[in-house]
Amino acid sequence: MEDMWIMDFGCSKHMTAHRKWFSSLNPVSTKEYITFEDNGQGKVLGVGSVSLSAKLSLREVAFVRNLGFNLVSVSQLLGEGFEVHFKKGACRVLHAEETLVCSLLPFGQVFRVDLTSVFGPARCLVASPSADIWMWHRRLGHLSFDLLVRLSSMGLIRGLPKLRAEKDLVCHPCHHGKMVAASYTPVSQVMTSYPSELLHMDTVGPARVASVSGKWNVLVVVDDFSRFSWVFFMEFKDEAFGFVRDMVLRLRNENHKAMRAIRSDNGGEFKNSHFENFCRDLGLEHQFSSPYTPDSKLKQRVAPLRMQGR
Ligand SMILES: [Zn+2]
Repeated sequence: MEDMWIMDFGCSKHMTAHRKWFSSLNPVSTKEYITFEDNGQGKVLGVGSVSLSAKLSLREVAFVRNLGFNLVSVSQLLGEGFEVHFKKGACRVLHAEETLVCSLLPFGQVFRVDLTSVFGPARCLVASPSADIWMWHRRLGHLSFDLLVRLSSMGLIRGLPKLRAEKDLVCHPCHHGKMVAASYTPVSQVMTSYPSELLHMDTVGPARVASVSGKWNVLVVVDDFSRFSWVFFMEFKDEAFGFVRDMVLRLRNENHKAMRAIRSDNGGEFKNSHFENFCRDLGLEHQFSSPYTPDSKLKQRVAPLRMQGR
């Protein structure tokens, strides 16, 4: 009988004596009793929700001790907006929009809720608490296993079951998340042998505040050998090519030794046909730094400019 729900016209509310039906159950604080037909009494232990099928969920179902049947109250169904239609040999519960919620089958002198019809067997969509520590680790945003076990042993999270501590658990997404990129070892000695052999360059900006002459961007060029720096102010970053071209041509005249290469990041102001043609014509090598690895030679010069720009 505990798996059967009877449609009842006499009872004032839905009720059952079986805890397993409830998807949620709250204890009642007041002492409340249900009087049975044989004048016996059953104590109301709690009130909760029961999902009979995908379409029929009962709210405010009383959890009553010693009750012999699971009862669906017709008056409560009507109060919740359902319609109950009786025809010869068939009875149906419809929703307000005339959609079928469930059928009722004759059972002796009464009707029982048909839980095996097209709606499939009764399902409860609320999962029972699982003690799988991996599931809780993922559910709580990859919380550390130690902390998880501590929280569960102290009962600090409502609904968290008791979890057993296991040793040497390694979560691969966590592992990857904690990996850091290895940095290049800094090169302390100068690798070039004469001034203007290799030029490092980068742009900074746009700054929050324009300069007096209305310039928002800065081009920084550093000589690898002497660490001599040039700073040019630009309205737009694409002016960088003009400054670099003029500077390289001037340095070639000033120095007797040949300029070998320029080095920049992969920014659009450097990686374009102007630079490509210019370097090819002069026999210069254009070196590009790897993405996400700032050029350490430039970093010392550019970092303070970035700070000032902010
Ligand atoms: Zn994890």
